[in-house]
Order: sequence, then structure tokens, then C-alpha cells
Amino acid sequence: MAPPGSRTHTKKTDIWLLPEDEVFVGQRIREVLPDAGWLCSHPGPRGLHDVHLHPSAGEALDCGSVQAFLLLPAGAAEPPGVVVTGRRPARPGLRHAAVVQLLRSLRMPGGASEADVANEADGAGESSEIFCAGRLAVRWSEPDVGPEVHRLLYEQTRLVWQALRSATLPAVVEDVTGRKVTRTRIGTAAHELVARTGLTLTYGGDERLRLSAKLPPRPTDRRRFPAGFPPVSR
Ligand SMILES: [Zn+2]
Repeated sequence: MAPPGSRTHTKKTDIWLLPEDEVFVGQRIREVLPDAGWLCSHPGPRGLHDVHLHPSAGEALDCGSVQAFLLLPAGAAEPPGVVVTGRRPARPGLRHAAVVQLLRSLRMPGGASEADVANEADGAGESSEIFCAGRLAVRWSEPDVGPEVHRLLYEQTRLVWQALRSATLPAVVEDVTGRKVTRTRIGTAAHELVARTGLTLTYGGDERLRLSAKLPPRPTDRRRFPAGFPPVSR
């Protein structure tokens, strides 16, 4: 967290997405930022793999594995050493000033807890697998980028998060005590999977979360939206 007055801007949202949700989020971002380019990211030593500038989030995630980076401002040139796939950047003279990280969600063995064992006994739980949240995150320093680029980053970040909200559902989850946690998002495919299987959710730490029973409407079907949807983002 940046100290007050430092004018470092950060935004971060935890999200649970399946691969088809990632593609959908990437499509929505592309609708609002048609010039957007994504860097793939490969685990292992630097230089072992080429890094590419891909035209879509889905392609960059398919190429790398755990995360992809959206260059802002949209259309900015690829960093040195990056190989361009697809079309060239729209603004080759523009240097990127920030990156938006799209970190993938991860399904992994969780180790059976008492609750898992109880669920398995009554047939409600499928496995002790846990679904670890990914995230969408960005950070930049206003003094470093200057007022003009700051305004551009601010506006484009707003559009990216608007696209995220339009492509996902609010994830209404609760911890083991029943306390609701709502500042997160979940893709529709991920939501269906979690609702169907009772998959345990986590932010990556020790906490264990469950999807609350009430199902929000699908983001693609506007006729079913209740008044006030989408909810105000926090
Ligand atoms: Zn690549």
C-alpha cells in the first residue's frame, strides 16, 4: 500500500477465472482498448524463452503459463527484446508507462480438511482441490510518468476494470465463520464449476472460502439484471 500523498496509483482485484473466462475478459478489454497488446510470461530463467507481444490476453496466456501483462498506454511499443506476433503496435513511438498484470487462477490439491471429509461423507464435496484466485493489478507512480501520461493511464485503467466487471460476476464468498467477502470477481464458467462442485476457494493464503448460496445473474443476460446492477465496484 502506498503511503498517503505518494501519488502512487494501484488497483488490484482478486478473480477466479477458468480459461474460457480469461478469453472473455480479454475480448472485453480489447473492445474498449482495440490497440491493446499483451506480453506473455514464461517461468524459468530470464532469456530462456522469447517474450512476445500478443494481440490478445488469451493468446499470451496460452503461450506463457501463469500470467500475462497488458502494456499501457494501449498501442505502446514492445519493450526491447520482445518479439511481436500479429500486428505491429499502433503507436510505435510510444513507450509503455505501466503494465496490467493478469495472473491466472490456479486449481491445486488442497489437502483434506475436516470440512472436506464431512462433505465427502455426505456426498456434497467432490474433492479437496482448492481454487486459488488470480488477479488483475496495475501500479504506477504519477511523478514518474508525468501528468499527461497519468491521465491516460487513469482513463485506460478505468476502462480495463469496466471491461472486467462486464465480463465477470461479483464473487459473493464467505469464510469459515460465515463472514461475507465481496470485493472479488468470478467468471461465469468458474462460477458454474464452483457452484456445481462446492470447490473451496482461496486468495492463496491459509483462508478457505466458499461461494455463498445465492447466485448472481449472468453478465451476458441484461434482461435478468436487477435494478442497480452492476454493483458499484470497491
Ligand atoms: Zn508469447
